[in-house]
Amino acid sequence: MKIWKTIKSLFLWELLKGLKQTGSHLIERKITVQYPDEKTPQSPRFRGLHALRRYPNGEERCIACKLCEAVCPAAAITIESEQREDGSRRTTKYEIDLTKCIYCGFCEESCPVDSIVESRHFEYHGEERSDLLMTKEKLLANAVLLEDEIAADREVEVKYR
Ligand code: SF4
Ligand code: SF4
Repeated sequence: MKIWKTIKSLFLWELLKGLKQTGSHLIERKITVQYPDEKTPQSPRFRGLHALRRYPNGEERCIACKLCEAVCPAAAITIESEQREDGSRRTTKYEIDLTKCIYCGFCEESCPVDSIVESRHFEYHGEERSDLLMTKEKLLANAVLLEDEIAADREVEVKYR
């Protein structure tokens, strides 16, 4: 046994084993993704930046039921609302603090009118904390920019529900 150990150390057996392992990866297909030039595929259920959607006629979908606010485990959503003259209820304030958000998707799941959604957009940042406070105006603007993709994803996503 001792002789075998000596022979192995003499011929640098462990080193050769390591080199064999390294060599086997040299000829394998490379899996490193050269982000941002290359990107990995995304699921239609990807949970990125939030958006607050409108109906095609421009009316806000959100009915201020506050289910999303209640279900949010991070207490990241703040909603204030009032009743309109026509009796419908709409938000006067809708904010998501992205510094608290854990992107769990519960808000999206709980919304009865597909108003608050998490889009596929993830390439954003904030220089200051206030940049990551998504006001109602910002959320509505996100939906305008991303609506086509969101609508297409919702069509596919409904099959998983
Ligand atoms: S994704 Fe989750 S943590 Fe973020 S706002 Fe929605 S419910 Fe809250
Ligand atoms: S976004 Fe949806 S769940 Fe949240 S208050 Fe509006 S309608 Fe209710």
